[in-house]
Amino acid sequence: MDKRNQDRFAVETILAQAGNRNDGDSRESISTPIYLSSNYRHKDLDDIRNFDEHKQYSYSRLETPTRKVLSETLATLEHGTQAFALSSGMAAIQLAFSLFKTGDHIVTLDDLYGGTFRYFDQLDEQYGIRFSKWNGKKLDELHDLLRPETRAVWIETPSNPTMKEVDIAAVADMVHAVNPKILVMVDNTFYTPIYQLPLTQGADIVVHSATKYLSGHNDLLGGVVVVRGQGLSEKLSFNYKTTGATLASFDSWLLLRSLKTLPLRMREHTANAQKVVSYLKRETQVEKIMYPGKGGMVSFYVRDEDIIDKMFKRLRVVSFAESLGGVESLLTIPYIQTHRDMEEAERLRLGITPKLLRLSVGLENAVDLIADLKQALAQ
Ligand SMILES: *Cc1c(COP(=O)(O)O)cnc(C)c1O
Repeated sequence: MDKRNQDRFAVETILAQAGNRNDGDSRESISTPIYLSSNYRHKDLDDIRNFDEHKQYSYSRLETPTRKVLSETLATLEHGTQAFALSSGMAAIQLAFSLFKTGDHIVTLDDLYGGTFRYFDQLDEQYGIRFSKWNGKKLDELHDLLRPETRAVWIETPSNPTMKEVDIAAVADMVHAVNPKILVMVDNTFYTPIYQLPLTQGADIVVHSATKYLSGHNDLLGGVVVVRGQGLSEKLSFNYKTTGATLASFDSWLLLRSLKTLPLRMREHTANAQKVVSYLKRETQVEKIMYPGKGGMVSFYVRDEDIIDKMFKRLRVVSFAESLGGVESLLTIPYIQTHRDMEEAERLRLGITPKLLRLSVGLENAVDLIADLKQALAQ
């Protein structure tokens, strides 16, 4: 509401208009304001006619001032042309896959986040997008899987939950030599841009579940897509705004605030995980450990499946809960949680057995974490 002669309006008008046209005063705030307005006023018809040059905001699905600051930060962080913030990691993966159509062929790593693999199965069954699986080891085996209709190679590294690492640069070089149009896509959720910058290694698209390390406090669901190049940026901008799983301003602000401490948190997750791993190596109840040397994710096999339930009940610091990447340490059993929708034979082939546990090492003191795991495993 125009501030002049405000007192001439009725209480209904004053209240209905409260806070409107007020954002001009907040430009110097240190923390980005949270813009919860779902829409923005236009001054006149010219404002609409010249929308692309003049105006940045009209309707919040398209853009909000808070989300814009977040997206620009994410694009810089991943060295990309443009970043899109979405309402979940799966929404981010769905946006990336909005580039494909029936008949297209995609090669994926065989060990993937359970939700991703479930979505790919659905794309295959319902939409006729075809998938081949690569075990992440030999490049010539990946080469043999490429077809004329191959549109993308999808990699998660390190993979979830068996921590396989893939050389992104080697994959991108080979794939682009075969066909520069094949997109190399990387789910960078586990390492984050602090440890891995796929776009600088030749990848075309990076995806995150921002629910994990990027937000890092187990208090928000979000996803991110970052692309390299104007063409991808334009195509995905259109799909993003059209389908609309965009991140709300409040969550954008929360994610932006969390990003401020990402480098610090990642360093400490690594330091803690390394300490926990050296304890697990000495623990007689533990058979085999998979830890790539950095980051906070550790998978391990216990010797005896029967101790697991008791172990979960005894934990006092670590929580038996899904998800990962937060301040609070979490332990999961992928066989019956994240990967339960995968065929049993496939799970066992990948090493996802009833004895496999996945630990997201949080930011508690490592002494307390080790003592907790030790007392839970002592039986
Ligand atoms: C959690 C996760 C996802 C899915 O993200 P949501 O935010 O749960 O939708 C995708 N990839 C990886 C590696 C994940 O850990």
